[in-house]
Amino acid sequence: MVQKRKTIQMQKILDYLSSVKTHPKAETVYKAVKKDIPSITLATVYRNLNKLAEDGMISKLEVNGEFRFDADCSLHEHCICKNCGEIFEYLDKKLPKKILKNFKSKKFSPTSVNVIFYGVCTKCKKKMK
Ligand SMILES: [Zn+2]
Repeated sequence: MVQKRKTIQMQKILDYLSSVKTHPKAETVYKAVKKDIPSITLATVYRNLNKLAEDGMISKLEVNGEFRFDADCSLHEHCICKNCGEIFEYLDKKLPKKILKNFKSKKFSPTSVNVIFYGVCTKCKKKMK
């Protein structure tokens, strides 16, 4: 990957994202980064997050119409609870590779795949009973 010059703001955003496993929303990232850079605006955070996602430094997931961000770009799966919106990582490194291997289309050659499982988390499942 080409090392691009990063702004302090972008670095702070990336540092924060790398420190959490919660797949935060832009607003959550904004609140966290604002502690270090009080002058930062939500628009700047959005712009940087989108830039980082475009550059492949972070991944962007859409959950219930909201964008969530993840610093872990390695192939891994996500599980999204349809009830509370919580995102969990499901680590099966072989699964995306298997999917890619089994992908058969003459029209397209995929290089990566984003696997998302939708369902209900244990906490919500307990509440439903
Ligand atoms: Zn849940």
